[in-house]
Amino acid sequence: MERLTLPPGGAAAVDEYLEYRRIVGEDDGGKLFTPEEYEEYKRKVLPMRLQNRLFVSWQSPTGMDCKLVGPETLCFCTHRYKQHQTDFETVPQQRPIRLPCRVTGCQCRAYLFVPLNGAQPIRCRCKHFADQHSAAPGFMCNACSKCSGFHSCFTCACGQPAYAHDTVVETKQERLAQGKPVGRDVPYAAMGGLTGFSSLAEGYMRLDDSGIGAPSAEFLDSPVTATDHPFLKAFQASSSSSPETLTDVGTSSQVSSLKRPEEDDMSFFERRYQERVSLLGNLLILSIYL
Ligand SMILES: [Zn+2]
Ligand SMILES: [Zn+2]
Ligand SMILES: [Zn+2]
Ligand SMILES: [Zn+2]
Ligand SMILES: [Zn+2]
Repeated sequence: MERLTLPPGGAAAVDEYLEYRRIVGEDDGGKLFTPEEYEEYKRKVLPMRLQNRLFVSWQSPTGMDCKLVGPETLCFCTHRYKQHQTDFETVPQQRPIRLPCRVTGCQCRAYLFVPLNGAQPIRCRCKHFADQHSAAPGFMCNACSKCSGFHSCFTCACGQPAYAHDTVVETKQERLAQGKPVGRDVPYAAMGGLTGFSSLAEGYMRLDDSGIGAPSAEFLDSPVTATDHPFLKAFQASSSSSPETLTDVGTSSQVSSLKRPEEDDMSFFERRYQERVSLLGNLLILSIYL
């Protein structure tokens, strides 16, 4: 088996690296696993992810998912979801399930979504921004002494104030029992509530199933080829990491299900959507000429 290599090595090596990064997330502490460590990691973690995936959403008082949290979604503590504990050997029994931050020195005990006002942090009733507050339980303000803990009246797109929402961590079974989408199983780290392209629209947008403009989840989630299931790919890649097996289901320029490191959740899924649309367009053109 070959080592994981960075460029030079061409697109296959980049794809291989990005696949590695999506699976391993931050779990290698910034130092690439050796091939043996990577195999061991996948053997241990992937079945756990399949069994014990936790879905994270920010829910309105009516139980609607106003925001589905993804790997890059920021926490109140200013760290990303992927920097919190997201894998569990056994799902905790107590509710709510708390997902503590793993960043050294951070006092965050449980992932807490806080919406943005456009690109700006929202303000507390003490007038200071969310990120001026302590991430320790209590969420006291670091900039004033009159704050009794972060509390924002910012209005969500659903019409309810931010403070009336809850960050909810649920198992697959718990979501299914409420008729909520769970998407298909993926081997990637810290997927949170993401179940496909439509996950990233705001809650009230997802309620519009008129079909105008919004493609079906099936279309967006359908594998490009039968061999494309990420779980299979992850295991396939482990049996032989030669570039051929990593690229034989279409080149990265066609459909890249791998996110570029600097991309946020929305632009990743937007790109994937555009790729699928253009791929479908090409297939239609082909079928006209055949
Ligand atoms: Zn943190
Ligand atoms: Zn946090
Ligand atoms: Zn405050
Ligand atoms: Zn304050
Ligand atoms: Zn809302």
